Amino acid sequence: MISWKDEANKYKQDYLNDLKELVAIDSSRDVEHATSDYPLGAGPAKALAIFLKFAKRDGFTTKNIENIVGYVEYGEGDEYLAILGHADTVPAGKGWDTDPFTLMLDEGKAIGRGTSDDKGPALAAYYGLKMLKENGIKPNLKIRLIIGTDEESNWTGMKRYFEVEPEPKLGFSPDAEFPLINGEKGNVTFETKFKGINKESENTLINFKAGLKENMVPRDAEAVVKTNNVAELTSAFDKFVADMPITGEISDADGMVTLSVVGKAAHGMEPKNGVNAGTYLAKFLSNYDFDESGHDFIAFVADKLHLDSRAHSLGLNFTDEIMGDLTMNIGIMEYSKSTGGLINTNFRYPKGIDPEKIKQQLIANADKYHGVVSMDDGGMKPHFVDPDDDFIKTLMAIYSEQTGQLDAKPEVVGGGTYGRMMKRGVAFGALLPGAADTMHQANEFQVVDDLMLAMSIYGQSIYELTK
Ligand SMILES: [Zn+2]
Repeated sequence: MISWKDEANKYKQDYLNDLKELVAIDSSRDVEHATSDYPLGAGPAKALAIFLKFAKRDGFTTKNIENIVGYVEYGEGDEYLAILGHADTVPAGKGWDTDPFTLMLDEGKAIGRGTSDDKGPALAAYYGLKMLKENGIKPNLKIRLIIGTDEESNWTGMKRYFEVEPEPKLGFSPDAEFPLINGEKGNVTFETKFKGINKESENTLINFKAGLKENMVPRDAEAVVKTNNVAELTSAFDKFVADMPITGEISDADGMVTLSVVGKAAHGMEPKNGVNAGTYLAKFLSNYDFDESGHDFIAFVADKLHLDSRAHSLGLNFTDEIMGDLTMNIGIMEYSKSTGGLINTNFRYPKGIDPEKIKQQLIANADKYHGVVSMDDGGMKPHFVDPDDDFIKTLMAIYSEQTGQLDAKPEVVGGGTYGRMMKRGVAFGALLPGAADTMHQANEFQVVDDLMLAMSIYGQSIYELTK
């Protein structure tokens, strides 16, 4: 019997050398420099090629599909176990203390873009597979480690894979956290549009802007208001800000008042973790009479969306016993007097409610404010695998055995992973409970020992699932 942890540690130096080579490639999506050979830009394809180069070096069969997705294969047969990782990263961004593309080892941490999401974990899974091969273990179920190159955006490569290759029997994605994610909520986004106006009132909303992305709680909001009541508005705003969990500033020039609010950003899948600067600003403004169009925009946010992540006011509050609450994030609020406005609402919903119902309720409510609702592409459906499925039990048992966490349970999340690409698909690692989550941040890192433990867990998991 193989001692998986000892085996993983033997590969530590080789693993880190390979990780260094992967981290050195800026593999963020770069469609501005797309060519017919490199539809997502050269970086993602290059990182994929390096993955496949390692696999060829180690004697595996590999396939590159159109430079956007590829796989490493081990074993024989038609059916297979799939492991879905990705070689692309988000852009480096600002604020790094070291070069994001030079792997740094410091105080037990592997630091660099992709060390945690997902080059580090995907490579750990690769080494898990390599352990089987180098120990002469022949699986009874074929194994494919599939590497996507557009996970951080549109999943272009992985979607292509599932169009042209047979569906796996079961699979997991080492691109989230341990212990295991067996359920992912559905995800759908709507835009509610408002008309502009060409007349003015005692108070006129000139501009409103909050939020950058549908899946983030807006940290900042700003509105420009034309008013005859500058002094009153100013003192009321100062009092409002003092009473609320926000900071704010107000300034005026010739009856044009600029109000800005700072709240707290958070991932949109749990808006309660943030403070939505936009809905607070709208709430404040809703105390005043505005022009019809400005009123509709402000009042819809204040009456129907503010402090209501479970969408009670829209009549959409819904909880599934297993998958939890429907949640709503107001990610973008924009308005201009001349061109009108839009409000972007992102819903994460459990099984038991469908996007059409969400849309109908939103339409019925927005209609009272003359808002017009449109839906994006239908979004993503909820995904759920029965936790009593044998393969989940196997993965959980291995996880508990190797970590000593005997009471670990599978979980349901609001985010989306490659796990949902497969009927029997889950996310499995590699971030351990309690470890810092630095994905997408400056100074991204993962603890080297945690990566070694993940490698060991993946080695045993691949073995047990295919023996
Ligand atoms: Zn990822």
